[in-house]
Amino acid sequence: MQFLSIPGQAKEKKQLVTQVNQDRIPHAQILLGRPGSPKLALALAYACYILCQDRKDGDACGVCKSCLKSMQYKHPDLHFAFPVISKEGKKREDTTSQDFLDQWRPAVSENPYLDIQAWSQYIGAEKTQPNINTRECNEMIKQLGMRSFESPYKLLLIWLPEYLGKEGNRLLKMIEEPTDNTFIILIAENQERILNTIISRCQITKVSPVSDIQATEYIKARHPNIDSEILAQAVQMSDGDLNKALHIALGSSIDYSDLLLSWMRLSYKRDFSELNDWITMLNTKGREDIKHFMEYAMSFMREYAFYLQTEDVSRLSDSQQLIAKNMTKIMDMIKVESVAKLLQECLSEIMRNVNPRICLMAKSIELGDILRSKDQVKSLYDM
Ligand SMILES: [Zn+2]
Repeated sequence: MQFLSIPGQAKEKKQLVTQVNQDRIPHAQILLGRPGSPKLALALAYACYILCQDRKDGDACGVCKSCLKSMQYKHPDLHFAFPVISKEGKKREDTTSQDFLDQWRPAVSENPYLDIQAWSQYIGAEKTQPNINTRECNEMIKQLGMRSFESPYKLLLIWLPEYLGKEGNRLLKMIEEPTDNTFIILIAENQERILNTIISRCQITKVSPVSDIQATEYIKARHPNIDSEILAQAVQMSDGDLNKALHIALGSSIDYSDLLLSWMRLSYKRDFSELNDWITMLNTKGREDIKHFMEYAMSFMREYAFYLQTEDVSRLSDSQQLIAKNMTKIMDMIKVESVAKLLQECLSEIMRNVNPRICLMAKSIELGDILRSKDQVKSLYDM
């Protein structure tokens, strides 16, 4: 992976490139960023840059022998450690990342914004929590203790050190006194869940989330046929999480904006037969899509509140602008707050595995009450 294929992140790229160019690569560094931020992508591009035999203009050349291997995640001096589960036919305590490299390589090249949920699905770990075990720690120490094969450097990327328990203390000596030209890069999301003993020995580089424009361009470049309305909605509701935006945009053919409008309309009308059909339709899409719909509705309410206060439509897509303008007839800031609270409650109930049908019907009645309360200048029938 090269830096040029990562959208934005100018500050982070410059910092990493400068470290290499000035020969001041920290022995142990944590790239820390929220889920869906390009921290893993940056770590991969950084590793590729360090190992490249012909670095050019602040990026790896992409064509030298070393780059070709790094870009396939097959460079013998580039080691990986990441959370796994037990491999079929093997005990968990005997399984390490090595056993999952054949899944890791395609997973990362398909999506360098990978998060633990996507990875868990990839390796069939929906029911078991992946982790980094003692055997893995011993393997890391062994790998870095060996001489490098092809490059003057040895690199170890530890993805999600949050999944390292107390056994992580075994790594302290390796992190504190690494052998020459050995660099450890940890890629993390949650500083509070990493062993303090590890954090205190690492330099931390914060990675910012991608902007909506960068996320849109990135997804569009890879999926040119994607519906732009669905893409705009997916990006807006993902709040800088590129992985989530990708997942929603690709996995969904649902126009959430349309869905929200019909929900409000039916709730307002209190047409229980039609509401029941609407709920049945949404329910068939599954819990994950209902969750996404609620998240979309919440992000739309935030944008709508912004529009109400500023009349600035620049953050809304074309179809959202139309809905927002119509909504002003019935929805003021007080109602926005009540609806936002209702959506939040609905989302947490869905996440707590409450029956979606029961939850959605109760919330639809409540939504109708909110929308009908006080004076309405014009009814939702006109929307
Ligand atoms: Zn190269």
